Amino acid sequence: MGHDLSQDAEIWDDAYKLDRAHVFHSWHAQRNLDPTEVVTGHGVWLKYGDGREMLDFTSQQVNVNIGYQHPKVIEGIKKQAELLCTVGPDYANLARGRAASLVARRAPEGFDKVFFTNAGADANENAMRAARLFTGRDKILSSYRCYHGNTGAAISATGDWRRKPNDYSRGHVHFFTPYLYRSEFSATTQEEECERALAHLEHVIQFEGPDTIAAVLLESVPGTAGIIIPPKDYFKGVREITKKYSILMITDEVMAGFGRTGFWFALDDYDYTPDIISFAKGCNSGYVPAGGVIMSDPVAHRFDDIVFPGGLTYSGHPLAMGAIVATQEAMEEEHIVDNAYTIGKDVLGPQLTALYDKHPKIGEVRGKGVFWAVEMVADRTTKEPLDDATMKQIVAEGDKRGLILGVHNNRIHVTPPCVISADEATQSVEILDQVLTAAGC
Ligand code: PLP
Repeated sequence: MGHDLSQDAEIWDDAYKLDRAHVFHSWHAQRNLDPTEVVTGHGVWLKYGDGREMLDFTSQQVNVNIGYQHPKVIEGIKKQAELLCTVGPDYANLARGRAASLVARRAPEGFDKVFFTNAGADANENAMRAARLFTGRDKILSSYRCYHGNTGAAISATGDWRRKPNDYSRGHVHFFTPYLYRSEFSATTQEEECERALAHLEHVIQFEGPDTIAAVLLESVPGTAGIIIPPKDYFKGVREITKKYSILMITDEVMAGFGRTGFWFALDDYDYTPDIISFAKGCNSGYVPAGGVIMSDPVAHRFDDIVFPGGLTYSGHPLAMGAIVATQEAMEEEHIVDNAYTIGKDVLGPQLTALYDKHPKIGEVRGKGVFWAVEMVADRTTKEPLDDATMKQIVAEGDKRGLILGVHNNRIHVTPPCVISADEATQSVEILDQVLTAAGC
C-alpha cells in the first residue's frame, strides 16, 4: 500500500483492549463485540492491526467515496488546520463559502443556499424543519424502506427496525415505495410497480389530509433498505402528486450522493426537481464529519426576513469545509464520478449478473455505479430470505480471502469506494464468487 507504518503489536493490542474497556459502539449489544483494529488505508485498501491488507467492498458506512487517505484531501485539511481550525457559524469564512458553492453547483438550477450540519441525520432533521416552517404543516411522509438518521425526527422518518425503539417524534407517516422484487402491489413489471406505488402514495395523502402534510421525504436510492433502484418515472410521478397538493419534496442524497450511483447526485438520473436536498457522507468522504441541506430558492428566501429556528455550534466547521473543498476538487480533477459510472456499467453490472447465473441462491442483482445489492434467497421461487447463519458465513469467507463484505439482512451490499479500478473490482468479484461457493450458495 506504500505505507511504512511501524507495526508495534503491543500498541495494536492496546487499541483492542482500550476499545473493549471504554468504547460504547453504535447499534449493538456490547458484550460480545469483537471489533477489528484498523491501522491505516489507501485507496480501496485498509490495513488491519494484524498486518492484513483488505479490499474494502463497503466504503464503511457507504461514505468513503474518494477512498482512504487521499493525498489532496489530507493536504486540504492540513492547510485549513494551519490557517484556522475553528470559527463560529455567524462569521463569513472562505472555506465555508467555497464548500457551499461547490456543493450547490451539483444541485439542480435554482438551489443556491446550503445550511451545513454535522452529518446526515441532522441534515434531514433540518430539511424537515424547513419544510414544516415553509408550509405551516406538520406531517412528513416517508417510506417504510428507508433510513434517514439517528436523531429525533430523522429516526421517526426512518422505516426500518431502528425507528421502533426511538419513535417519539410526532407527525410521521409511512408508505410503500417501489420494490418490484418484493412488490407490495402484486406488480410484475417496473411500469406496473411505478404506477401502483404512485396510486398508493396519492391515496395515503388523501386519507391523511393533504393540508396536514409538509413534505414527502425520500432517498433517491433507498440504500440501507436494500439499494432499491426506483423505476425511471417514479420521482416524476411523486413530484406531480406533491405539486398537486402543494406538498414539498425532500430528496435524501446522504448515501446516494457524490458519485455513489455514477452521478454527482443520484437524482440526476431522474427527471424531476425536489424542493430540498439533504447530503452528507460522500461530500468529503467522512474525512471530517459534515452534512447539510441544499435549499431551492423559494425555500431559502422564505427565511430572508423571518428567523430560521435551527443551528449548530459546528455548522460549517472549517476543517470539515476544507475537506469538502479538497474532496470536490479532487473528484472533479480525477473524474471519480465518471469512474464510478463506468465501473458499474462495464465491470460490476456484468460480473455480478454473471454470478447470478452461476449461484442459485442469488435472488436478484440490482444497482448502478458502485452501489449494488446482491439479494440472497433460500429458494428463487419462494424468495425466502437466506438465513442469518449463511449470511454471517459469507462475511467470514470474505474476511478469510481479504475482502470486506457488507451484509444487511439477506443482502450483500457491494459499495466500494468510487475510485476502485477495473482490476480491483474484477478481483473482488472473483473473490465473491469463491465466497459464495464456499458458503454453499
Ligand atoms: N440518510 C441516509 C440515506 C443514510 O444512509 C444515512 C446514514 O446511513 C443517514 C441519512 C444518516 O446519516 P448520518 O449517519 O451521517 O447521520
